[in-house]
Amino acid sequence: MKKNQIFITYGEDPRLMIEQLLAAVKLEEMIKPGGSIGLKPNLVVGKPADSGATTHPEIVEGIITYLLAKGFKKIVIMEGSWIGDDTKRAFAICGYQRLAEKYNVELIDLKGDQTIKVESGGLSLEICSQVKKVDFLINLPVLKAHCQTELTCALKNLKGCIPDREKRRFHSMGLHKPIAALSAAITPHLTIVDALCGDLTFEEGGNPVPMGRLIAGSDPVLLDAYAADLIGLKATDIPYISIAHHLGVGEIDLAGAEFIETNPDDRKGSGFRLSHRSRTLSLKVDERQSCSACYGSLIHALHRLEEEGSLNGIPAKSIKIGQGYKGEGGKGPGIGNCTKGYTPYLKGCPPTARQIKEFLRSVELL
Ligand code: SF4
Repeated sequence: MKKNQIFITYGEDPRLMIEQLLAAVKLEEMIKPGGSIGLKPNLVVGKPADSGATTHPEIVEGIITYLLAKGFKKIVIMEGSWIGDDTKRAFAICGYQRLAEKYNVELIDLKGDQTIKVESGGLSLEICSQVKKVDFLINLPVLKAHCQTELTCALKNLKGCIPDREKRRFHSMGLHKPIAALSAAITPHLTIVDALCGDLTFEEGGNPVPMGRLIAGSDPVLLDAYAADLIGLKATDIPYISIAHHLGVGEIDLAGAEFIETNPDDRKGSGFRLSHRSRTLSLKVDERQSCSACYGSLIHALHRLEEEGSLNGIPAKSIKIGQGYKGEGGKGPGIGNCTKGYTPYLKGCPPTARQIKEFLRSVELL
């Protein structure tokens, strides 16, 4: 596969689609004989793929059966869910436990993995060692919205390959620069984007949008540029994509890409758009370096309060959240342990969306 190539397969049946895509990509020619292969899906939360949050297990099953048929037997699945969620629970709920048992494939919870230090993009990073132990890494992100970075796809999916303490530190560093640096430290050999029904409102799912395609390539920056374009964003407006490009991870300009559609007649739909609900709801929030799980739960809670007609009572910029509030104090409401100096505040690291909703309902500003 040439680095500027983007392969696209359309449809609704993930098993058929992945078989067609892998045959077009000629996956077996990309891996050295007998090489070990790591599959890195997005299992950020324990929710089934049809919620729009996680990678469809049928895609991973199709990759495993393809590889086994071509004689590749050393296959592992690796992931670390977001802060506050249990990867093993996500493996079970998302259908990966079943896959592991059926095909005798090892599941690796990266939250419990040993870590190594790497220098990348001007930063010192702590990454999970398993990612570096495989000969060939296949990144399997979901194309979906993110409440802090707008888009999450190929580059940001690699954040599952660092321990929780490093995830927190990434947020304290503003997220974009460390995500780009991480992609320079862990560049997958192949990325296959699950764009079947990603959630274009919230990262944690619940609002899936049928997009009916799988997208593959070896340049994760180019894939993110294409993913951004597909949902109406400019890649240059998403800082981590631009920074990764400047670090030499890949190309950002789609003009140089070669698009190969394996079944163009099956293409349905276009003009997918982010809902930008997060952006509107975030007007109530004064956020400083919050973790995705914490901030995502807050945005979700605000969404539910709005549905109940309870949002208007919350003044703009009144809710405090994030690591930037540690050691400070004043008038709340604050969300999460980092805001314990504020009154009132909600305990938790992170608190759940349900807890946040109940808390905000109960505080005086409502
Ligand atoms: S309280 Fe929230 S922002 Fe603070 S460390 Fe925990 S998850 Fe992150």
